[in-house]
Amino acid sequence: MPSVSDIHHRVPQSFCPLCGHKLDAASGMDTDDRPSPGDAGVCIQCATPLIYQDDLTMRAMTQAEINNLDPGCRRELEIAMLVVRSLDRRKKRKK
Ligand SMILES: [Zn+2]
Repeated sequence: MPSVSDIHHRVPQSFCPLCGHKLDAASGMDTDDRPSPGDAGVCIQCATPLIYQDDLTMRAMTQAEINNLDPGCRRELEIAMLVVRSLDRRKKRKK
């Protein structure tokens, strides 16, 4: 199972278009690289697929963009969504 990097990169602040969570840090999946414009990501709160824009703020990925991802990227995105959802469940259980 891939893991989320412990390295947090600061990115310009934006907000998840779905849940409104503040997005100002990024962690790679099995990479410590900084995100680049056009990279896919997911909201750490609600697992919505997001895409980095030219200024590294994030917006929701369209269904067409998801469909056009190459299979490897799409698989990684799906895994990232599963990882975030499992984090979310763990958080809820602790309460
Ligand atoms: Zn969200």
